[in-house]
Amino acid sequence: MTWHLDLDFPGSNACGAAVTCVDGAPAISLTPDPKDSPEVLWFRFRLRRLDAEAPAPWLVLRHVPTLLGGGDGSALQPVVRCDGGAWSRLPPGQPCRYADGRCDARWPLPAAAACLEVAFCFPYGQEELDALIAATGLRVQAVGASERGRPLLRLDNGPGAEGSQRPGLFVLARQHSGETPASWVLDGLLRRLAELGEAAPLTWVVPFGDPDGVLDGCYGKDRHPVDINRAWPGVDSKPRRHEVLCWMQEIERWRKRCAPTLLLDLHAPGAHERTGVYAFTPMGADGVVPEPVGAWAARLQSTLGAPWAAEQDFARVGRYPSRWPRETHLTGSRWAVHQGLPALAVETSYQGQGGRVFSITDYRAIGVRLADGVVATG
Ligand SMILES: [Zn+2]
Repeated sequence: MTWHLDLDFPGSNACGAAVTCVDGAPAISLTPDPKDSPEVLWFRFRLRRLDAEAPAPWLVLRHVPTLLGGGDGSALQPVVRCDGGAWSRLPPGQPCRYADGRCDARWPLPAAAACLEVAFCFPYGQEELDALIAATGLRVQAVGASERGRPLLRLDNGPGAEGSQRPGLFVLARQHSGETPASWVLDGLLRRLAELGEAAPLTWVVPFGDPDGVLDGCYGKDRHPVDINRAWPGVDSKPRRHEVLCWMQEIERWRKRCAPTLLLDLHAPGAHERTGVYAFTPMGADGVVPEPVGAWAARLQSTLGAPWAAEQDFARVGRYPSRWPRETHLTGSRWAVHQGLPALAVETSYQGQGGRVFSITDYRAIGVRLADGVVATG
């Protein structure tokens, strides 16, 4: 095995690396690093060739049922790129079951490269964000600091004017830092709005709700000390994360400078889900989904259409078990609904829909459709 495992770059994640073999061929086996959190999913690493004759290795992802929604790995299609080129999907994982009930999954990696980079899904970090800013002319504004002292960034298409009745859109992404499909959807959405110029709503965006998690390669779901998307005030009037305090102030500033049309909170669901895009419709304080929220879900479902909108059960209510109290603190979108803002959480699959695997082009197209849906009804 003459490959060097490189984890020394932003957003990397892997642990327990070992050299093994699959049917006589070399293999690198590893598993995602929990990074002090109860859930794992995100991984990203580079393999650098140290021997010109080294054969292509296999990837063995160990303990795949311990990933959130990992199953036996057969629904998972991680991404790979060679020598810094374009990303592409690996085939579905091959489960590897052991006599004691454990399960790993494995994938063959491409041969011709000096550097192979592998990730759970298409990465999106500061480099990709910088390219988006350069392409769209969006403004960047630091609006606070993360709990580890990094700048919290807002992108916008203008400062707005207090009392203005220009329609307004607010978008949150990456409150769960490993959910990179959210960023590619946002990328497409913002490129589309940039094309519309002044016809676009006043748009303020949080590209990285958890910038520490993005840089440190954390999955971020349910992360300690508390999930950012379970830290918004409810019965308890104070946020439980400093980042949320800053994002709340941003939303308050934005809503004074526009006629709020919609707040979108972009996410990705469990690892194996292959149901395209769907929405969580937050309930109001009375336990009922407000009519404008349900109407937004119906509009976006129709704008998204095939092959992206979930073919069944597009508008959902989040009643799944939670580690966090549901009333003392809320999700960002539910907090917004309690503030009287129309808000939705949008979940975009890491994989695709049914047999169709999503590419970066698909994710951006989803963002374009969302932008068109917002503008058409704004
Ligand atoms: Zn999420």
